[in-house]
Amino acid sequence: MRTQVAIIGSGPSGLLLGQLLSNAGIDNVILDRVGREYILGRIRAGVLEAGTVQLLQQAGAGARMQAEGLVHDGIDLAFAGRHHRIDLKSLTGSPVTVYGQTELTRDLMDHREATGGRTIYDASDATPHDFDTARPFVTYDKDGTTHRIECDFIAGCDGFHGICRATVQDRGIRNFEKIYPFGWLGILADIPPVHHELIYANSERGFALCSQRSRTRSRYYLQVPLTDTAEAWSDAAFWDELRRRIPADVAERLVTGPSIEKSIAPLRSFVAEPLRFGSLFLVGDAGHIVPPTGAKGLNLAASDVHYLFEGLQGFYGEKSEAGIDAYSGRALARIWKASRFSWSMTTLLHKFPDSGAFGQKIQEAELDYLVHSTAASAALAENYVGLPY
Ligand SMILES: Cc1cc2nc3c(=O)[nH]c(=O)nc-3n(C[C@H](O)[C@H](O)[C@H](O)COP(=O)(O)OP(=O)(O)OC[C@H]3O[C@@H](n4cnc5c(N)ncnc54)[C@H](O)[C@@H]3O)c2cc1C
Repeated sequence: MRTQVAIIGSGPSGLLLGQLLSNAGIDNVILDRVGREYILGRIRAGVLEAGTVQLLQQAGAGARMQAEGLVHDGIDLAFAGRHHRIDLKSLTGSPVTVYGQTELTRDLMDHREATGGRTIYDASDATPHDFDTARPFVTYDKDGTTHRIECDFIAGCDGFHGICRATVQDRGIRNFEKIYPFGWLGILADIPPVHHELIYANSERGFALCSQRSRTRSRYYLQVPLTDTAEAWSDAAFWDELRRRIPADVAERLVTGPSIEKSIAPLRSFVAEPLRFGSLFLVGDAGHIVPPTGAKGLNLAASDVHYLFEGLQGFYGEKSEAGIDAYSGRALARIWKASRFSWSMTTLLHKFPDSGAFGQKIQEAELDYLVHSTAASAALAENYVGLPY
């Protein structure tokens, strides 16, 4: 088989890139090691920056998000028993949109199928080859046969544990990493959200987040030690602990119900440099991970796609390599700023093992300054809604 761009990974970055390329008349094939339903079973991000919304619309897969996504003009920061609203819209002119990653992925998959895009699911052992020559190719196994795809470029959209970054480990790649000493226990439940916007709560017992996927589906998180397991947390224990970490007036309004998903995600900051190796590009989680506190993971995948799509469009349209040459640098400049923001939100809102009562007071003082200083609120809002591409 021959294509122009072979895309490894059918998550948000692979699907979005594939659709933008197809719309521009650039042939591409997507490979994923698992099947469609498995991918759609993963519960992940839910807050979309305006740039991500715009890209989904540009891809032609934005209709349901437009109809069902919830536009949020603000977020609440809760600490010391109080909560304060950060008015994102009035501070930056831009809101965020709450729409689940599962739904966004489903929309992109459906649109790809409807427009005749090629996706090969259950493709095991996908491997990029010869990407430092003029004739790169990808191999994969399916139904007992090894297949080969000749291509011009390979997009490594295969997530943090994928094969593409692993393949370039001995080619001068630098990995920057910070592991946080806690994780997030998340619950998904078909109950109305406690508040119409998200509440990020700092408390002496640890961080909590009141989030949502729709007006009838809520997502709540608790900071937990990495030694905890989701199975050891009953729903009742989760709701009791959540009530203790959020302000009393919010806890009183909390509607609880049975969880339909419960899992623990470790928190990590990770950036690989560079993101290009010949004709192989690392995109999205394949190249970087942020802790979810700043709601940036999925949005960074989208901005990477934007830069790479522009580069590939320039290559095929104007025969210019300037865009693909600039991809790694442009993407990394934005990635590091989002990594800084995600790290700072994580540091500000979580309880760290060695911070003690002094650390708690410092966090509360910083939060108090943040919500009462227009300049500080504006800086937070500007980063939260997403820095410009
Ligand atoms: C538990 C969890 C919770 C999260 N919560 C949030 C959140 O609240 N907010 C936020 O902004 N972000 C969150 N994120 C991050 C966000 O989900 C990711 O940034 C986003 O999924 C990145 O998209 P991607 O397409 O780059 O990677 P992925 O979504 O990981 O997709 C990669 C795809 O590649 C496939 N693949 C992997 N290896 C291979 C291989 N060898 N061959 C072929 N295919 C392969 C995988 O099956 C997968 O389909 C969360 C992530 C996790 C894991």
